Amino acid sequence: MSTIIAGCGFGGAVVARQLAEANEKVRIIERRNHIGGNCYDEMDAYGILVHTYGPHIFHTKIKEVYEYLSRFTKWYPYQHEVVANIHGNMVPVPFNLHSIDMVFEKEKAQRMRSVLLKEYGENARIPILQLRQHENKEIQELGNYVYENVFLKYTMKQWNQRPEEVDQSVTARVPVLISEDDRYFQDPWQGMPKEGYTKLFENLLDHPNIEVELGKDIRDIMEFDFDKKKIYIDKKEFSGNIIYTGMVDELLAYKLGHLPYRSLKFDFEHKDMEYYQSKGVVNYTVSEDYTRITECKYLTGQKCPSTTIIKEYPSAYKAGESEPYYAILSEENKALHKQYEDVLSDFGNFYLLGRLAQYRYYDMDAIVKEALDLAEKLKGER
Ligand code: FAD
Ligand code: UDP
Repeated sequence: MSTIIAGCGFGGAVVARQLAEANEKVRIIERRNHIGGNCYDEMDAYGILVHTYGPHIFHTKIKEVYEYLSRFTKWYPYQHEVVANIHGNMVPVPFNLHSIDMVFEKEKAQRMRSVLLKEYGENARIPILQLRQHENKEIQELGNYVYENVFLKYTMKQWNQRPEEVDQSVTARVPVLISEDDRYFQDPWQGMPKEGYTKLFENLLDHPNIEVELGKDIRDIMEFDFDKKKIYIDKKEFSGNIIYTGMVDELLAYKLGHLPYRSLKFDFEHKDMEYYQSKGVVNYTVSEDYTRITECKYLTGQKCPSTTIIKEYPSAYKAGESEPYYAILSEENKALHKQYEDVLSDFGNFYLLGRLAQYRYYDMDAIVKEALDLAEKLKGER
């Protein structure tokens, strides 16, 4: 039995490893000239390990995923913290009880704290739009402050939509946190691969049954016969399984229309100073055209005399001109994706996997879990 996988991000690489260990020959076709998908990291010209496609911090509630990846990496015990630069005040995000103390006068902050703790309890996570509708005027004021100073401009930059226009699940990723925990994530397992993501991927792919071809687009070797429901690879009928982790609209030449995505441009700047900012990520929530600045050294723990920062500029995605980083979730877009999925489901040996192919806002751990589950399903069907 042999399997072809298009794309060598976490989706493709994990499913490849699982099938390879079950004695299948796996051929991975990756159109970039490197492995790792958007998690790829590399040394820059100054010897600083940078995340080429923006900051990636591993965090999960899924023990199975943490244990699985721990087979391929040791961990640097990093706990991610983010601050929002609100007119020069560096306020913890998610907005929490410390943040309240930093922006409201003492007595008002005390009153807000006690209402929140009484009503929601410690460690509760309240979506920002919910607080704005609270009956207590001071809690409403808090909701409005966070809306205006943390969410409005950042979300307009990131999505070109107001917070109430984007899918609620998106802003709910960063709720108001009823806690003094300044970490960005509260998941039980978090950290960074000790030698970087690329090394983790090298270890994942290091198996005699896995062959990786870089710089090749699956569309150049794969054809669909929609009448006979057959797939051809290199002009020959292919009866093994094909797992595809790219965009479905692009794969089918946009025959049902374009699926919208948001893109990003990353600006790397080297600075001749040990550290540039106080945390790994600073969000620019009331100023600037970029959304955030990442200083990779905080994430990786690397010690050296100079530093590199990454500024993220969001933009519209244009096929062939930019990279599709974020699916724009809406009922309409999800329905279009479903139509593509239905067309492809006619092919019994073709599977969609990953953030692009499934048109989802998936973190790394969710993709690893999907890949582990798909591999189990495919092994069960043999
Ligand atoms: P990808 O990593 O995108 O891999 C897909 C691969 O398929 C790509 O390498 C692509 O080149 C290849 N491909 C596409 N089409 C074809 C084709 N036709 N032929 C051949 N190859 C093809 N997650 C976290 O958990 N923590 C974070 O901190 C975090 N930060 C993020 C920051 C940014 C800016 C972004 C964009 C994402 C972030 N994520 C984070 C999410 C994380 O990147 C994804 O969950 C993960 O990379 C998805 O893996 P994947 O395999 O689905 O897709
Ligand atoms: N967000 C915001 N201000 C912030 C942080 C997040 O407005 O300081 C909103 C914004 O709409 C963003 C969403 O919350 O797209 C999700 O943020 P997250 O940090 O989870 O995004 P990612 O890390 O995936 O870029």
